[in-house]
Amino acid sequence: MAESGRRVILSVENVDKKFPRVHAVKNLSLKIYEGESVALLGPNGAGKTTLLEMIEGLQFPDSGEIFIDGLTYGKDEKKIRQLMGLAFQETRFPEKIRVFEALELFSAFYGGTRARIMEILELISLTEKKDAFVNNLSGGQRQRLALGIGIIQKPKIILLDEPSTGLDPHARREIWRIMADLKKQGSTLLLTTHYMEEAEELCERIVVLFKGKILADGPLEQLLDQHASHEIIEFKLKNKSAALIAKLEKLNKVSYFHFNKSTSAGVMHVDDAAVILPDFLKRVGRQNLESFAARPLTLDDLFIKMTGRHLDG
Ligand code: ATP
Repeated sequence: MAESGRRVILSVENVDKKFPRVHAVKNLSLKIYEGESVALLGPNGAGKTTLLEMIEGLQFPDSGEIFIDGLTYGKDEKKIRQLMGLAFQETRFPEKIRVFEALELFSAFYGGTRARIMEILELISLTEKKDAFVNNLSGGQRQRLALGIGIIQKPKIILLDEPSTGLDPHARREIWRIMADLKKQGSTLLLTTHYMEEAEELCERIVVLFKGKILADGPLEQLLDQHASHEIIEFKLKNKSAALIAKLEKLNKVSYFHFNKSTSAGVMHVDDAAVILPDFLKRVGRQNLESFAARPLTLDDLFIKMTGRHLDG
């Protein structure tokens, strides 16, 4: 299972999945190496959850194969459950159960120990809440508990579907802190997210999914480099004559230009805004310009360029 010195822990091979009206995942292949943290990014309906659930064994591909540390669901489901931890966007707990009891219940499936439960309580910062009823926890605390339950068996690979969706910024940071700790302990992380910030904070590799296919795959820096742009200039015009737009489109060293006539707003992806701006301002003319701003290019900008859609749309 080693490739170029790295061990492949998850291998998705030519996986295809169709629903009656949607071709959700299209002949997709993906390898994830031990210790990697990978974010699956994409807009609604891109196929992220379907792919993740096939990796989790909750759905089955129409064709293709999935290997988890060399194992397949058909033969080795029990072993896979031992080495794979799951945390869902929303976890329902039985009523009238306390935090410690919830962890104990799930720990029993894996022959876990009390020491492991205490370790998890520390990791998810719920030691002081161990006797509280789960129903009385805040959304963030409940999400941390779900994460703790998902990793009780010390899994090698942890899959998370939108781990911090719906949480306030503080609770989100807490989840990120836990995930960063797990990463430090050597776990492999695969998560789906709508939040670029989450991907940037936790993952060294980003896989962009769109309409069931991988559109881009690599470290964020590499993705930005491939598109030869590091900054974006956003502008709004008072005059949107075709002649003016054509003049702007011909600017040198612009890797992407888009102008929306109905909003009079435009964007340009450039390597260095300071180099482009003098020429841009000269061409546009002060009287034609309502506003402009330059800022670093983000993954969302890149995503709009590739797909015409926002990551969170
Ligand atoms: P989101 O970010 O909204 O969760 P996603 O990228 O996770 O989106 P999926 O949930 O995998 O996307 O859905 C991919 C496509 O497959 C969508 O068009 C969705 O409507 C469709 N789909 C998903 N599950 C089913 C199902 N059980 N039956 C029919 N269609 C489905």
